Amino acid sequence: MKKILFLVATIFSFSITAQNTYLHCGKLIDTENGIVLTNKTIVVSGNKIVSIHDGFVVPENSEDIIIDLKDKTVMPGLIDMHVHIEEELSPKRYIEPFTLNEADVAFNTLEYAKTTLMAGFTTVRDLGGSGVNVSLRNAINQGKVVGPRILTAEKAIGTTGGHADPTNGRSKVLMGDPGPKEGVVNSVDDAKKAVRQRYKNGADMIKITATGGVLSVARSGQNPQFTIEEIKAICETAKDYGMHVAAHAHGDEGMQRAILGGVKTIEHGTLMSEKTMELMKKHYVYYVPTITAGKSVEAKAKIKGFFPEIIVPKALAIGPKIQDTFGKAYAKGVNIAFGTDAGVFDHGENGKEFGYMVEAGMPAIETIQSATITNAEVLQLDSLGQIAVGFLADIVATDENPIQNIHTMENVVFVMKEGKVYKQ
Ligand SMILES: [Zn+2]
Repeated sequence: MKKILFLVATIFSFSITAQNTYLHCGKLIDTENGIVLTNKTIVVSGNKIVSIHDGFVVPENSEDIIIDLKDKTVMPGLIDMHVHIEEELSPKRYIEPFTLNEADVAFNTLEYAKTTLMAGFTTVRDLGGSGVNVSLRNAINQGKVVGPRILTAEKAIGTTGGHADPTNGRSKVLMGDPGPKEGVVNSVDDAKKAVRQRYKNGADMIKITATGGVLSVARSGQNPQFTIEEIKAICETAKDYGMHVAAHAHGDEGMQRAILGGVKTIEHGTLMSEKTMELMKKHYVYYVPTITAGKSVEAKAKIKGFFPEIIVPKALAIGPKIQDTFGKAYAKGVNIAFGTDAGVFDHGENGKEFGYMVEAGMPAIETIQSATITNAEVLQLDSLGQIAVGFLADIVATDENPIQNIHTMENVVFVMKEGKVYKQ
């Protein structure tokens, strides 16, 4: 009896108060089965998908809204596994740590976050900034600011002189000696402390720079920068605190140490050998290619004065190789998680990655699956990545069918996040 009363009360309150949204979808991508369905109605109530019907169902309640997407292709909100929401590449990058205050960075992020959401990316994994990323995540969650759902690494962890040492390239007077608090480690104990400090600062996961990188003011773009013991300590500590670890890596040796040390994703993976590809498969590590970033740094390196001189040869050597490596890794059966490194190119252009992945041999439908159902799985976001009953209503649409023209992913025309329409 109690149960029935409760049920009646629920139905009653639903029909009186809830305004439901009916999305009439001409085409609908089923990311679970990798197929495109036609003529479906998605019913959204509050922040959730409550039912899906064949054909175009008209609501009985006059307060309900119909959104006409009959000539669009509808799919789950996209997930980018690798962005830097605090920054956008420009020649001013290397002077800005001396000229911008934290509040300036914060104001910049407002535009980047909004642009990202409008491009159809309703969730992003932010792989490193200054800590403003944590505040931005919170403000978005609280509805104060428009942007994607953010999971953030706060500040990336590196080693002294390594890719994530924030004082590389400075005069000795300005170098100081950053330590685990600032995300710079030189021992197993430092490594543990740096992870715990990130947790305390509000990070959702950990990012390490397992090898040299392109944009740091340092000579090598690919040398291994952690001992395997340090990486193991980072991964084990992160696990204790309920966090996973993402590893930036261009060189093969550092990549192998990261995989054996226990990371969950390899970012960029530029010089990945066949042996490492096998290792990735064996340890269920996901490859996040970031082809768009590779192409961006290569193009910018050809503009005189855009980068400090020490960066130019690294950008020209590493940038163009990523797409090829991705093609080989995909063909070998390495698990792929969609990620772009937006911030190294303009935010909002994340959708270009789809075209580059297709160019390298991945079928269009699989690129979309990697950016939805796969990424939701990797991030353990159980109610995202699919359009299914009970899932969060993160729904986007394109003018064309991306299976026929993948470049339509660069121009998302409809964006709903948790039941709220942001772009139509
Ligand atoms: Zn990055």
